[in-house]
Amino acid sequence: MASSDGTPTLDRAGARPRALVDPFARAITYLRVSVTDRCDFRCVYCMSEHMTFLPKVDLLSLEELDRLCSAFIAKGVTKLRLTGGEPLVRRGIMTLVSSLSRHLASGALKELTLTTNGSQLEKFSAELKAHGVERINVSLDTLNADKFRDITRWGDLNKVLAGIDAAQAAGLQVKINAVALKGVNEDELASLVEWAHGRGMDLTVIEVMPLGDIEESRLDQYLPLSLVRARLAERYALEDIDYQTGGPARYVRVKETGGRLGFITPMTHNFCESCNRVRITCTGTLFMCLGQEDAADLRTPLRASEGDQLIHSAIDEAIARKPKGHDFIIDRKHQRPAVSRHMSVTGG
Ligand code: SAM
Repeated sequence: MASSDGTPTLDRAGARPRALVDPFARAITYLRVSVTDRCDFRCVYCMSEHMTFLPKVDLLSLEELDRLCSAFIAKGVTKLRLTGGEPLVRRGIMTLVSSLSRHLASGALKELTLTTNGSQLEKFSAELKAHGVERINVSLDTLNADKFRDITRWGDLNKVLAGIDAAQAAGLQVKINAVALKGVNEDELASLVEWAHGRGMDLTVIEVMPLGDIEESRLDQYLPLSLVRARLAERYALEDIDYQTGGPARYVRVKETGGRLGFITPMTHNFCESCNRVRITCTGTLFMCLGQEDAADLRTPLRASEGDQLIHSAIDEAIARKPKGHDFIIDRKHQRPAVSRHMSVTGG
């Protein structure tokens, strides 16, 4: 356990902060923090083209985000992932990474990592590594520059590839995340496997989830990974392995490449029974489940007192309401999103 200054200690009331265990006896040890809802891309399955972003005054400051993260770490969170929006477009983000790294040094945090679209990695990779980040996830759905521009609405693939080069040169372990999109990248997934594995990177494919209103129908995008896996299995020998990163992916080893391939299947195989995660947004809202609307406001207790007791109590109350799981469905009868928030609000 660690206090907000990173030293192992009791909380201000003199009591050891209670570890986080939800009503289904799941220990919550993984926090994802969306540091901004803004992004320099507008991926068609993630955001609508004309998003309204939060006014800057509503955002927690970097110091407040640090305090909130530290409160979770004091309550037993050992893995922290910064996400967004695009985490690397938040101004001053390296100040937060640098200050959070004290929890790595104290041993309270086992891993500090981030999910990024890669566009800013040329600029930030060396600093991330210097602050103790060892592994990052880069989201990349295609290696075709035109398709990349269509998916992201204006992104430059070369910039992302240069970012991945920079990350690897800085010694960061890179995992590629690709959302499987019907009729868009389904014919390219084998080449993504070979490209990623050829560069020593794991690849994880993800099913599209019905989060937020977008211009397209989810039914037109949704590609079940049972199908993707069956197709890849015609081409490669896939061996189940019990490699774990603390996240929801289930991994196989691709015999021909020697690399690892992960499947994240919120739709076809719900993995909620082993959920160890919660998410906070850049306004200090805690979502206990990516796929449910219930949330807890942590900004008010955070700002109400300089001590952490109010935040700890608010976190305890929220974790006591963590639901069993999400109810994602994509079919003709369910044309509305499961939750109204876009993925860019709660982060990946
Ligand atoms: N900007 C960063 C990035 O691109 O990785 C972090 C935020 S982004 C919302 C995190 C991940 O969520 C990305 O891998 C993205 O592809 C994925 N994502 C966004 N919307 C999704 C959806 N509706 N279903 C499944 N994955 C989604």
